[in-house]
Amino acid sequence: MSAQSSFAYAGDSHIGLVRGDNEDAYLVAPPLAAVADGLGGHNAGEIASSAAIEALLAAAPRVADAKALARAVQRANEAVLAASASGYGRSGMGTTLTAVMVDGLRLAVAHVGDSRAYLLHLGTLQQLTDDHSMVADLVRSGQLTAEQARVHPNRSVITRALGTDPGLVVDAFEAQAAPGDRLLLCTDGLSGMVPDAEIARILGAARTPQDAVDALVDSALAAGGHDNITVVVADIGREATRAHREPGSPRWLLRGLWALAGLAVALGAVWASYSYARAQAFLVDEGGYVTVYQGVPGSLAGISLKWLSEESTVPVSALGPITSAHLADGVRVHGLAEATDLLDTYRLRAAEASATAAP
Ligand code: MG
Repeated sequence: MSAQSSFAYAGDSHIGLVRGDNEDAYLVAPPLAAVADGLGGHNAGEIASSAAIEALLAAAPRVADAKALARAVQRANEAVLAASASGYGRSGMGTTLTAVMVDGLRLAVAHVGDSRAYLLHLGTLQQLTDDHSMVADLVRSGQLTAEQARVHPNRSVITRALGTDPGLVVDAFEAQAAPGDRLLLCTDGLSGMVPDAEIARILGAARTPQDAVDALVDSALAAGGHDNITVVVADIGREATRAHREPGSPRWLLRGLWALAGLAVALGAVWASYSYARAQAFLVDEGGYVTVYQGVPGSLAGISLKWLSEESTVPVSALGPITSAHLADGVRVHGLAEATDLLDTYRLRAAEASATAAP
Protein backbone atom coordinates (compact mmCIF):
# COMPACT_ATOMS: atom_id res chain seq x y z
CA MET A 1 0.00 0.00 0.00
CA SER A 2 1.33 3.44 -0.81
CA ALA A 3 1.91 6.01 1.88
CA GLN A 4 -0.95 8.34 2.75
CA SER A 5 -0.05 11.70 4.21
CA SER A 6 -1.23 15.22 4.81
CA PHE A 7 0.63 17.97 6.65
CA ALA A 8 0.21 16.99 10.26
CA TYR A 9 -0.63 13.31 9.58
CA ALA A 10 1.28 10.52 7.87
CA GLY A 11 0.84 6.78 7.57
CA ASP A 12 2.31 3.75 5.86
CA SER A 13 2.05 -0.01 5.84
CA HIS A 14 4.85 -2.46 5.01
CA ILE A 15 4.48 -6.20 4.41
CA GLY A 16 7.61 -6.88 6.51
CA LEU A 17 10.32 -9.40 5.69
CA VAL A 18 8.64 -12.73 6.48
CA ARG A 19 4.91 -12.69 5.65
CA GLY A 20 3.57 -13.40 2.16
CA ASP A 21 0.59 -11.02 2.49
CA ASN A 22 -0.04 -7.70 4.14
CA GLU A 23 -3.17 -8.19 6.27
CA ASP A 24 -2.90 -4.75 7.92
CA ALA A 25 -4.87 -1.71 6.79
CA TYR A 26 -4.87 1.91 7.90
CA LEU A 27 -6.68 5.17 7.42
CA VAL A 28 -5.42 8.75 7.34
CA ALA A 29 -8.50 10.95 6.89
CA PRO A 30 -7.86 13.90 9.24
CA PRO A 31 -9.16 14.39 11.85
CA LEU A 32 -9.68 10.60 11.83
CA ALA A 33 -6.86 8.03 11.85
CA ALA A 34 -6.98 4.27 12.32
CA VAL A 35 -4.99 1.06 12.04
CA ALA A 36 -6.30 -2.51 11.68
CA ASP A 37 -4.47 -5.86 11.82
CA GLY A 38 -6.41 -8.61 10.08
CA LEU A 39 -6.36 -12.28 10.99
CA GLY A 40 -7.62 -15.33 9.17
CA GLY A 41 -4.96 -16.18 6.59
CA HIS A 42 -5.43 -16.81 2.85
CA ASN A 43 -6.28 -13.17 2.14
CA ALA A 44 -9.16 -13.26 4.66
CA GLY A 45 -7.30 -11.09 7.17
CA GLU A 46 -6.75 -8.48 4.50
CA ILE A 47 -10.46 -8.53 3.62
CA ALA A 48 -11.39 -8.19 7.31
CA SER A 49 -9.05 -5.27 8.02
CA SER A 50 -9.97 -3.33 4.87
CA ALA A 51 -13.72 -3.97 5.36
CA ALA A 52 -13.38 -2.65 8.92
CA ILE A 53 -11.51 0.49 7.81
CA GLU A 54 -14.03 1.20 5.02
CA ALA A 55 -17.00 0.78 7.35
CA LEU A 56 -15.32 2.95 10.00
CA LEU A 57 -14.79 5.75 7.48
CA ALA A 58 -18.39 5.50 6.27
CA ALA A 59 -19.81 5.57 9.81
CA ALA A 60 -17.33 8.01 11.38
CA PRO A 61 -18.87 10.79 13.49
CA ARG A 62 -18.39 14.46 12.59
CA VAL A 63 -17.01 15.34 16.00
CA ALA A 64 -14.40 13.79 18.29
CA ASP A 65 -16.85 11.97 20.55
CA ALA A 66 -15.62 8.65 21.97
CA LYS A 67 -19.07 7.04 22.26
CA ALA A 68 -19.96 8.02 18.68
CA LEU A 69 -16.59 6.71 17.48
CA ALA A 70 -17.25 3.44 19.35
CA ARG A 71 -20.57 3.15 17.48
CA ALA A 72 -18.64 3.51 14.20
CA VAL A 73 -16.36 0.66 15.37
CA GLN A 74 -19.52 -1.40 16.06
CA ARG A 75 -20.61 -0.71 12.44
CA ALA A 76 -17.17 -1.92 11.34
CA ASN A 77 -17.68 -5.10 13.39
CA GLU A 78 -21.04 -5.67 11.66
CA ALA A 79 -19.37 -5.16 8.26
CA VAL A 80 -16.73 -7.84 9.00
CA LEU A 81 -19.39 -10.26 10.32
CA ALA A 82 -21.53 -9.61 7.22
CA ALA A 83 -18.55 -10.21 4.92
CA SER A 84 -17.90 -13.56 6.66
CA ALA A 85 -21.57 -14.58 6.50
CA SER A 86 -21.88 -13.72 2.78
CA GLY A 87 -18.93 -15.94 1.91
CA TYR A 88 -16.83 -12.95 0.92
CA GLY A 89 -13.67 -13.59 2.88
CA ARG A 90 -13.86 -16.56 5.29
CA SER A 91 -15.86 -17.32 8.35
CA GLY A 92 -13.75 -16.80 11.44
CA MET A 93 -11.76 -13.96 9.90
CA GLY A 94 -11.28 -10.99 12.18
CA THR A 95 -9.34 -7.82 12.74
CA THR A 96 -8.12 -5.42 15.38
CA LEU A 97 -9.19 -1.79 15.04
CA THR A 98 -7.72 1.23 16.81
CA ALA A 99 -9.27 4.57 15.81
CA VAL A 100 -8.52 8.09 17.04
CA MET A 101 -10.34 11.30 16.17
CA VAL A 102 -8.57 14.58 16.95
CA ASP A 103 -10.28 17.85 17.84
CA GLY A 104 -7.69 20.47 18.70
CA LEU A 105 -6.01 19.02 21.79
CA ARG A 106 -8.76 16.53 22.57
CA LEU A 107 -8.57 12.92 21.39
CA ALA A 108 -11.44 10.46 21.11
CA VAL A 109 -10.25 6.85 21.05
CA ALA A 110 -12.12 3.63 20.19
CA HIS A 111 -10.21 0.38 20.29
CA VAL A 112 -10.41 -3.42 20.02
CA GLY A 113 -7.47 -5.86 19.88
CA ASP A 114 -3.72 -5.49 20.27
CA SER A 115 -2.93 -2.66 17.90
CA ARG A 116 -1.99 0.43 19.89
CA ALA A 117 -2.41 4.17 20.27
CA TYR A 118 0.43 6.03 21.99
CA LEU A 119 1.00 9.67 22.86
CA LEU A 120 4.50 11.15 23.01
CA HIS A 121 4.38 13.99 25.56
CA LEU A 122 7.60 15.86 26.44
CA GLY A 123 9.69 12.89 25.31
CA THR A 124 7.69 10.35 27.34
CA LEU A 125 5.69 7.68 25.53
CA GLN A 126 2.31 6.85 27.07
CA GLN A 127 0.35 3.88 25.76
CA LEU A 128 -3.26 5.11 25.59
CA THR A 129 -4.88 1.77 24.76
CA ASP A 130 -4.91 -1.52 26.67
CA ASP A 131 -4.05 -4.59 24.59
CA HIS A 132 -6.81 -7.18 24.40
CA SER A 133 -4.38 -10.09 24.39
CA MET A 134 -3.49 -13.08 26.49
CA VAL A 135 -0.05 -11.75 27.40
CA ALA A 136 -1.47 -8.33 28.32
CA ASP A 137 -3.83 -10.09 30.78
CA LEU A 138 -0.76 -11.80 32.29
CA VAL A 139 1.06 -8.44 32.55
CA ARG A 140 -1.97 -6.86 34.25
CA SER A 141 -2.11 -9.71 36.77
CA GLY A 142 1.63 -9.36 37.43
CA GLN A 143 2.67 -12.71 35.94
CA LEU A 144 4.76 -11.22 33.10
CA THR A 145 6.68 -7.98 32.62
CA ALA A 146 5.93 -5.82 29.56
CA GLU A 147 9.29 -6.79 28.07
CA GLN A 148 8.64 -10.54 28.62
CA ALA A 149 5.23 -10.07 26.98
CA ARG A 150 6.80 -8.39 23.93
CA VAL A 151 8.85 -11.52 23.12
CA HIS A 152 6.43 -14.18 24.51
CA PRO A 153 5.66 -17.02 22.03
CA ASN A 154 1.89 -16.53 22.55
CA ARG A 155 2.05 -12.73 22.23
CA SER A 156 -0.17 -12.73 19.14
CA VAL A 157 -3.12 -14.49 20.83
CA ILE A 158 -5.78 -11.78 21.11
CA THR A 159 -8.82 -11.94 23.34
CA ARG A 160 -11.06 -9.47 21.51
CA ALA A 161 -11.38 -8.78 17.75
CA LEU A 162 -13.87 -7.48 15.22
CA GLY A 163 -15.64 -10.19 13.24
CA THR A 164 -16.12 -12.72 16.04
CA ASP A 165 -18.98 -11.45 18.23
CA PRO A 166 -22.07 -9.34 17.38
CA GLY A 167 -22.03 -8.13 21.01
CA LEU A 168 -18.45 -6.88 20.78
CA VAL A 169 -17.30 -4.62 23.63
CA VAL A 170 -15.36 -1.59 22.34
CA ASP A 171 -13.01 0.37 24.62
CA ALA A 172 -13.88 4.06 24.20
CA PHE A 173 -12.45 7.07 26.00
CA GLU A 174 -11.30 10.64 25.52
CA ALA A 175 -7.84 11.96 26.31
CA GLN A 176 -6.32 15.41 26.54
CA ALA A 177 -3.08 16.18 24.70
CA ALA A 178 -0.79 19.21 24.85
CA PRO A 179 0.50 21.32 21.93
CA GLY A 180 3.54 19.59 20.43
CA ASP A 181 2.43 16.10 21.46
CA ARG A 182 2.76 13.40 18.83
CA LEU A 183 0.14 10.68 18.36
CA LEU A 184 1.21 7.22 17.17
CA LEU A 185 -1.06 4.39 16.03
CA CYS A 186 0.58 1.08 15.14
CA THR A 187 0.03 -2.62 14.67
CA ASP A 188 2.06 -5.21 16.58
CA GLY A 189 4.47 -5.44 13.64
CA LEU A 190 6.01 -2.30 15.20
CA SER A 191 5.23 -2.60 18.93
CA GLY A 192 6.12 -6.32 18.99
CA MET A 193 9.46 -5.77 17.25
CA VAL A 194 10.75 -2.49 18.72
CA PRO A 195 10.87 -1.68 22.47
CA ASP A 196 8.83 1.31 23.65
CA ALA A 197 11.98 3.24 24.64
CA GLU A 198 13.29 3.00 21.07
CA ILE A 199 9.88 3.96 19.63
CA ALA A 200 9.90 7.03 21.90
CA ARG A 201 13.41 8.00 20.81
CA ILE A 202 12.61 7.71 17.08
CA LEU A 203 9.25 9.46 17.40
CA GLY A 204 10.84 12.35 19.31
CA ALA A 205 13.82 12.74 16.96
CA ALA A 206 11.88 12.83 13.67
CA ARG A 207 11.29 16.26 12.18
CA THR A 208 7.91 15.56 10.55
CA PRO A 209 5.19 12.89 10.95
CA GLN A 210 6.27 11.41 7.60
CA ASP A 211 9.91 11.20 8.79
CA ALA A 212 8.67 9.49 11.97
CA VAL A 213 6.60 6.95 10.00
CA ASP A 214 9.52 6.12 7.71
CA ALA A 215 12.01 5.78 10.59
CA LEU A 216 9.64 3.61 12.67
CA VAL A 217 8.95 1.24 9.75
CA ASP A 218 12.72 1.04 9.12
CA SER A 219 13.34 0.21 12.80
CA ALA A 220 10.82 -2.68 12.71
CA LEU A 221 12.44 -3.99 9.51
CA ALA A 222 15.90 -3.69 11.09
CA ALA A 223 14.60 -5.70 14.07
CA GLY A 224 13.60 -8.54 11.74
CA GLY A 225 10.26 -7.45 10.22
CA HIS A 226 8.54 -10.66 11.38
CA ASP A 227 5.03 -9.24 10.85
CA ASN A 228 3.25 -6.64 8.72
CA ILE A 229 4.19 -3.15 9.99
CA THR A 230 1.64 -0.33 9.99
CA VAL A 231 2.25 3.09 11.47
CA VAL A 232 0.27 6.35 11.56
CA VAL A 233 1.72 9.50 13.17
CA ALA A 234 -0.09 12.79 13.78
CA ASP A 235 1.20 16.03 15.28
CA ILE A 236 -1.33 17.42 17.75
CA GLY A 237 -2.21 21.12 17.78
CA ARG A 238 0.52 21.99 15.34
CA GLU A 239 -1.24 24.88 13.60
CA ALA A 240 -2.52 26.20 16.92
CA THR A 241 1.00 26.19 18.39
CA ARG A 242 2.44 28.09 15.44
CA ALA A 243 -0.23 30.78 15.40
CA HIS A 244 0.07 31.44 19.14
CA ARG A 245 3.84 31.71 19.01
CA GLU A 246 3.64 34.98 17.09
CA PRO A 247 2.38 37.45 19.68
CA GLY A 248 3.18 40.53 17.56
CA SER A 249 1.36 39.31 14.44
CA PRO A 250 -1.40 41.54 13.10
CA ARG A 251 -4.84 39.95 13.19
CA TRP A 252 -5.13 39.73 9.40
CA LEU A 253 -1.94 37.68 9.29
CA LEU A 254 -3.28 35.27 11.92
CA ARG A 255 -6.57 35.04 10.01
CA GLY A 256 -4.59 34.36 6.83
CA LEU A 257 -2.61 31.63 8.59
CA TRP A 258 -5.81 30.01 9.85
CA ALA A 259 -7.35 30.19 6.37
CA LEU A 260 -4.22 28.58 4.88
CA ALA A 261 -4.25 25.91 7.58
CA GLY A 262 -7.93 25.22 6.81
CA LEU A 263 -7.19 24.98 3.11
CA ALA A 264 -4.25 22.65 3.79
CA VAL A 265 -6.45 20.39 5.92
CA ALA A 266 -9.17 20.37 3.21
CA LEU A 267 -6.64 19.59 0.46
CA GLY A 268 -5.13 16.91 2.69
CA ALA A 269 -8.56 15.33 3.16
CA VAL A 270 -9.25 15.39 -0.60
CA TRP A 271 -5.84 13.87 -1.29
CA ALA A 272 -6.36 11.21 1.39
CA SER A 273 -9.75 10.28 -0.13
CA TYR A 274 -8.25 10.15 -3.61
CA SER A 275 -5.27 7.98 -2.61
CA TYR A 276 -7.57 5.78 -0.55
CA ALA A 277 -9.90 5.29 -3.57
CA ARG A 278 -6.97 4.51 -5.89
CA ALA A 279 -5.98 1.63 -3.61
CA GLN A 280 -9.51 0.13 -3.68
CA ALA A 281 -11.45 -1.78 -6.33
CA PHE A 282 -14.91 -3.24 -6.75
CA LEU A 283 -16.86 -5.63 -8.96
CA VAL A 284 -20.36 -4.70 -10.06
CA ASP A 285 -23.23 -5.94 -12.25
CA GLU A 286 -23.35 -3.84 -15.41
CA GLY A 287 -25.76 -5.02 -18.09
CA GLY A 288 -25.78 -8.51 -16.59
CA TYR A 289 -22.01 -8.97 -16.70
CA VAL A 290 -19.36 -8.60 -13.99
CA THR A 291 -17.43 -5.36 -14.45
CA VAL A 292 -14.30 -4.39 -12.53
CA TYR A 293 -13.57 -0.84 -11.40
CA GLN A 294 -10.64 0.66 -9.55
CA GLY A 295 -11.91 2.98 -6.81
CA VAL A 296 -15.07 2.94 -4.71
CA PRO A 297 -18.75 2.73 -5.69
CA GLY A 298 -20.95 5.83 -5.48
CA SER A 299 -19.54 9.31 -5.05
CA LEU A 300 -17.98 11.42 -2.34
CA ALA A 301 -19.30 14.99 -2.06
CA GLY A 302 -20.57 14.63 -5.63
CA ILE A 303 -17.22 13.44 -6.96
CA SER A 304 -17.01 9.97 -8.49
CA LEU A 305 -13.87 8.09 -7.44
CA LYS A 306 -13.93 5.12 -9.82
CA TRP A 307 -12.08 4.14 -12.97
CA LEU A 308 -13.18 1.33 -15.33
CA SER A 309 -10.68 -1.53 -15.32
CA GLU A 310 -12.27 -4.54 -17.04
CA GLU A 311 -15.58 -5.42 -18.69
CA SER A 312 -15.76 -9.22 -18.38
CA THR A 313 -18.01 -11.75 -20.14
CA VAL A 314 -18.88 -13.48 -16.85
CA PRO A 315 -22.71 -13.52 -16.61
CA VAL A 316 -24.00 -12.42 -13.19
CA SER A 317 -27.02 -14.74 -13.58
CA ALA A 318 -24.69 -17.79 -13.41
CA LEU A 319 -23.39 -16.84 -9.94
CA GLY A 320 -26.46 -17.53 -7.84
CA PRO A 321 -28.90 -15.17 -6.08
CA ILE A 322 -26.69 -14.15 -3.13
CA THR A 323 -23.66 -13.17 -5.20
CA SER A 324 -25.96 -11.48 -7.75
CA ALA A 325 -27.49 -9.39 -4.98
CA HIS A 326 -24.04 -8.36 -3.72
CA LEU A 327 -22.91 -7.52 -7.26
CA ALA A 328 -25.93 -5.27 -7.74
CA ASP A 329 -24.53 -2.99 -5.00
CA GLY A 330 -20.89 -3.61 -5.87
CA VAL A 331 -18.51 -6.03 -4.11
CA ARG A 332 -15.61 -4.05 -2.70
CA VAL A 333 -12.10 -5.48 -2.51
CA HIS A 334 -8.70 -4.18 -1.56
CA GLY A 335 -6.96 -3.35 -4.83
CA LEU A 336 -7.07 -4.50 -8.44
CA ALA A 337 -5.04 -7.68 -7.85
CA GLU A 338 -7.70 -8.91 -5.42
CA ALA A 339 -10.43 -7.87 -7.88
CA THR A 340 -8.78 -9.97 -10.60
CA ASP A 341 -8.56 -12.96 -8.22
CA LEU A 342 -12.23 -12.64 -7.37
CA LEU A 343 -13.18 -12.28 -11.04
CA ASP A 344 -11.24 -15.51 -11.74
CA THR A 345 -13.23 -17.23 -8.98
CA TYR A 346 -16.51 -15.96 -10.48
CA ARG A 347 -15.40 -17.11 -13.95
CA LEU A 348 -14.77 -20.64 -12.61
CA ARG A 349 -18.11 -20.69 -10.81
CA ALA A 350 -19.92 -19.51 -13.95
CA ALA A 351 -18.15 -22.20 -16.00
CA GLU A 352 -19.09 -24.87 -13.42
CA ALA A 353 -22.70 -23.66 -13.40
CA SER A 354 -22.99 -23.86 -17.19
CA ALA A 355 -21.31 -27.32 -17.20
CA THR A 356 -23.86 -28.52 -14.59
CA ALA A 357 -26.74 -27.03 -16.57
CA ALA A 358 -25.64 -28.69 -19.83
CA PRO A 359 -27.19 -32.13 -20.55
MG1 MG B 1 0.23 -8.06 13.23
